[in-house]
Amino acid sequence: MSASPDFKAIIIGSGPAGLTAAIYLSRANVPNLLFEGQQPGGQLTITTEVENFPGFPEGITGPELMLKLRAQAERFGTVIRGETVESVDLSAQPYTVRTGEGQYAAPVVIIASGSTARWLHLQDEEKFHGKGLSACATCDGFFFRGQEIAVVGGGDTALEEAIYLTNFASKVTLIHRRGEFRGSKIMQERALANPKIEVAWNSIPKQYQADDKGNLTGLVLQDTTGGPDRQLPVTGCFIAIGHTPNTAFLNGQLPTDESGYLVTVPGTTSVSRPGVYACGDVQDHVYRQAITSAGTGCMAAIEAERWLAGVGH
Ligand SMILES: Cc1cc2nc3c(=O)[nH]c(=O)nc-3n(C[C@H](O)[C@H](O)[C@H](O)COP(=O)(O)OP(=O)(O)OC[C@H]3O[C@@H](n4cnc5c(N)ncnc54)[C@H](O)[C@@H]3O)c2cc1C
Repeated sequence: MSASPDFKAIIIGSGPAGLTAAIYLSRANVPNLLFEGQQPGGQLTITTEVENFPGFPEGITGPELMLKLRAQAERFGTVIRGETVESVDLSAQPYTVRTGEGQYAAPVVIIASGSTARWLHLQDEEKFHGKGLSACATCDGFFFRGQEIAVVGGGDTALEEAIYLTNFASKVTLIHRRGEFRGSKIMQERALANPKIEVAWNSIPKQYQADDKGNLTGLVLQDTTGGPDRQLPVTGCFIAIGHTPNTAFLNGQLPTDESGYLVTVPGTTSVSRPGVYACGDVQDHVYRQAITSAGTGCMAAIEAERWLAGVGH
């Protein structure tokens, strides 16, 4: 085992949840080891401006914010490794965590592995991140004041995001692959009654279009019933086809809800094993924000520290 027995907690994930848990554990003198995974810094590293994280009145870029959180955790003693967790064994104490490079053990495991937004996987999609393409209306809606934009999806989240985005956009086109929505009746009624919302039924985006600076200028829509393609001029496009919580390495050892999110005891970050906590987007399908992830990361660390003290570790 490559573990130092001195680690009392292992944190899986380096987004706002994991790094906040690390800061709190280190400042509580709980030796902790954090695995960064394949996306060091988490989801915020693929966005540009973050204007809603408290404490940055001028805004801050996502990568810069995450470097600051990382430096803060390291300053207080968190050991950070650029490894990805392949499996964990939560059947006996101390829990073991296996990465491609070794096996580690600790009485506490904090799962902060986040979730992955589902994208359309069209050509050059990643080049449009921060240039008109987003997966988070709460985060980015404000940037599209007075503009014509699109939302892709047909479930409740897509309908909710489209309605929310009418607070900013001059027009929102909801693009849905079928001829009717999957979302609840009440959300459908609200969306369809909104004068700023238009629906592109039986349509899927086929291509992103850009100006010479790479900013989104439109979408080419394919008709799913076999009609001709058409062009939709928009400067923003929000993909609202769901998120996948990153839990494969748990191999079904912890309960999840029907969408795959880890289930925590209400009002806590505790899961169904003593000393195991889940925080951030991996257990939150409602808020999905950096600040709420950081908040639950803080909760996980405090709960872990109290549990360790209670069992005499
Ligand atoms: C394009 C975009 C823009 C956004 N803009 C904003 C914004 O402006 N404001 C805002 O508040 N929120 C924003 N969000 C949402 C915000 O990024 C998330 O809510 C937040 O990052 C979730 O934090 P987290 O720590 O739970 O997980 P994540 O940020 O998803 O991080 C998960 C971490 O877990 C790691 N990981 C996963 N699996 C493993 C494994 N097997 N082993 C080890 N590590 C693993 C990953 O490498 C990553 O480091 C945005 C999201 C997106 C996609």
